[in-house]
Amino acid sequence: MVKKIKILVSFGTRPEGIKLAPVIKEIEKNKDYFILSICSTGQHREMLAQVIDFFEIKPDINLNLMTANQTLSEISSRIIQGMEDVFNQTSPDIVLVQGDTTTAFLTAFVAFYGKIRVGHVEAGLRTFNKHSPFPEEINRQLISKIADLHFAPTEKAKESLLNEGTDENGIILTGNTVVDAILWGIDKIDKKPEKDKSEDIKLLEKIVSPDKKTILVTMHRRESFGEEIKNVCEALKVTASKYKNINIIYPVHLNPNVSRPVHEILGGIKNIKLFEPLGYEPFLWLMNKSYFIITDSGGVQEEAPTLKKPVLVIRKFTERSESVEMGISKLLGTDKENIIKNMRLLLDNESEYKKMIAYANPYGDGKASRRICKAMKEYFKICAE
Ligand code: UDP
Repeated sequence: MVKKIKILVSFGTRPEGIKLAPVIKEIEKNKDYFILSICSTGQHREMLAQVIDFFEIKPDINLNLMTANQTLSEISSRIIQGMEDVFNQTSPDIVLVQGDTTTAFLTAFVAFYGKIRVGHVEAGLRTFNKHSPFPEEINRQLISKIADLHFAPTEKAKESLLNEGTDENGIILTGNTVVDAILWGIDKIDKKPEKDKSEDIKLLEKIVSPDKKTILVTMHRRESFGEEIKNVCEALKVTASKYKNINIIYPVHLNPNVSRPVHEILGGIKNIKLFEPLGYEPFLWLMNKSYFIITDSGGVQEEAPTLKKPVLVIRKFTERSESVEMGISKLLGTDKENIIKNMRLLLDNESEYKKMIAYANPYGDGKASRRICKAMKEYFKICAE
């Protein structure tokens, strides 16, 4: 009988929950090899709760660390203390963290203090600009210094890790688990009987009409606060007034640095619909129905190619450059005229539009979670020998 591997999966925010959900499901399928504990730090509360619900995940430990208006230093000190207690309670052989959040970095950091192995899901993404995205670029670089297993989503991510001197034996090319999550999610939505359909989807069905092109917008990054958000909103306003046959649907982040200017500039415009952030289920449904997407989100840049939607990226730098290089997305920055020009191009020029959706998905094939579990089994076998 093989000794089972004790795995702790830790997350705290919506994107981590989404991208770790399929890994958790895969670990659960491998009960003969793994003993799983799930910890949520609760760095985000409501947004994460919807994800946990949708993916039917049951955290064993919930640290509930979110408080109103806490600074990065305040949440950091609470995560450090909280995770030390969690490691003492669970004593895992390995902890899995995802991406680049403060939860992910500090979980890895405390694991290092406890000499516990770390597996990093979505390793090797880089902008090489320490302030953008902030604080994520530094979080993920530091996790790479600590991790034992680096699950790289793309060749490019693997290359970045190798260039930084990471041990090649610890890097496993897996694809991004976001693709696994989206395929699982779309299947779940499609199979739901009409009577169980979410209220938000029913509401969106009334707005999304086949004779109007739906443009989905999301924007939430710290480095976009101020003039950048205003520029994007002005570009949306100009385009909405020129094209009456479009609907711009924008779930607005609750941070007042975002919601205040967005509501000031875009409130009351007939073909712009402002919502509160949507749960993952209605958001997925909406992405799937949209004509194209405008976003500064990292996860959405990876999700859109799975659903064959062009993306206009309203950031100056992106660590998801694979889709930009292939022409699936365009990195626009936040210049108002440039955004207007590129929205027009997609709305007016069908061949430009088709060019942007003619490619295979650079971010994965839906089997990343399986590769991660297989790699952990092999790693622990090697470690035992
Ligand atoms: N998302 C969501 N509801 C929304 C906006 C985004 O469920 O109203 C999902 C989206 O599908 C993606 C994730 O949240 O998987 C991205 O999270 P976010 O943009 O907060 O973070 P990032 O990916 O930039 O780290």
